[in-house]
Amino acid sequence: MIAKNISIGENGHVYFAGQDTIVLAQEYGTPLYLLDEEMIRSNCRVYKNAFKKHFGEGSCPLYASKANAFKRIFEIMSEEEMGIDVVSSGEIYTALQAGYDLKKAYFHSNNKTDKDISYAMDNNIGYFVADNIEEIKAIEREAEQRGIKQKLLLRLTPGIDPHTYEAVSTGKVDSKFGSAIETGQADEITRYTLNQSHIELAGFHCHVGSQVFAEDVFERAAVIMLKFSAEMKRKYGYITQQLDLGGGYGVRYVDSDPFMDVDKKVSEVAAAITDSCNSLGIEMPEIHMEPGRSIVGAAGMTLYTVGTVKTIPGYKNYVSIDGGMPDNPRYALYKSSYTCLLANKMQEDCDFKCSIVGRCCESGDIIQENVMLPQSVTRGDLVAVCTTGAYNYSMASNYNRIPRPPIVMLCDGRSYVAVRRESMEDLCRNDL
Ligand SMILES: *Cc1c(COP(=O)(O)O)cnc(C)c1O
Repeated sequence: MIAKNISIGENGHVYFAGQDTIVLAQEYGTPLYLLDEEMIRSNCRVYKNAFKKHFGEGSCPLYASKANAFKRIFEIMSEEEMGIDVVSSGEIYTALQAGYDLKKAYFHSNNKTDKDISYAMDNNIGYFVADNIEEIKAIEREAEQRGIKQKLLLRLTPGIDPHTYEAVSTGKVDSKFGSAIETGQADEITRYTLNQSHIELAGFHCHVGSQVFAEDVFERAAVIMLKFSAEMKRKYGYITQQLDLGGGYGVRYVDSDPFMDVDKKVSEVAAAITDSCNSLGIEMPEIHMEPGRSIVGAAGMTLYTVGTVKTIPGYKNYVSIDGGMPDNPRYALYKSSYTCLLANKMQEDCDFKCSIVGRCCESGDIIQENVMLPQSVTRGDLVAVCTTGAYNYSMASNYNRIPRPPIVMLCDGRSYVAVRRESMEDLCRNDL
């Protein structure tokens, strides 16, 4: 199976986190987001333990909230002692509502408004990850007014493309995020920050990309960042305390995606960092990473009920479901791959090639194409889409005035609602 928390029961049903998806669909209705709480917690622990073991005390993973943000997830992150990264006042607000202590929160975004900056400081955010000089000016101004020294990391672009897996600096130097090392802007912004009296430069951040499987992307990024740190030490006497290497490893959406051994990967990154620090003659900084997808991705599954099945002889078959791009826009956005199962007929052969499509007035409202399902697929069957824990609920919309599905958490053989299903009244809540 695509993930270790998915299995097939003797009744031919898909089981997720040990629970029968047909029973869950009957109890909570569809479309339905399921999240395996135990897997989320165990993924956090794998990262945390690997960081402690290979990078030492102080180093820790930060959950990238944008992957899936709602109150319960922040409670879990708090209980698991994870740091978090946030990108908006809304994510900060949600974390606060969950009682998350913002000391270990890092505020990203390439364009924080003045309002965001002051909201974050009013709530004692631990760190800003500053993208550009304009933002640093605004942070300095706000910090001065409050008479505080605000801790901050600088987001830099090391010039690595993780997907073509080449050091094509141009490809990444022109990113909308951060300051490039290659152009001298990183040096400039570091010098500028060190001259501010209400900002404490805590270190540097980079994010080379998401869904990373390529062998040594993090190692290469780390080495470039450490070289830069050594240069800043030489030029300005600045000692880097924290180095944040950005988003986490990839997850399996389809069988051709590899399983990632996070502990092993982290140990390899640690070895490269140790070597690099030794040869550069610098202390190893605290290391952070910001996994989102690899914490929650495989912990998620979405259940849908099949409606119309349409066959266009000689062309194509369509299986329509009761959700679609409003709850999962990722195929429409980036043609993302997903594994789709006919959850109530797993004992049948899959010989019917089809596109699984949503219910919206939009031809691009597709969950997946070229899916193989049993020939008998019909109205009332249940489709399970795997690995939907990341960037589904957090990207969901009300397009076509469709209410968002609930999030049901699965834990120890129990299930509970963490986010309730939107109602018709919710749809008009803000309409005057
Ligand atoms: C998106 C993002 C992440 C999380 O990436 P994942 O692939 O979900 O692990 C972390 N850091 C930054 C800056 C990001 O933009």
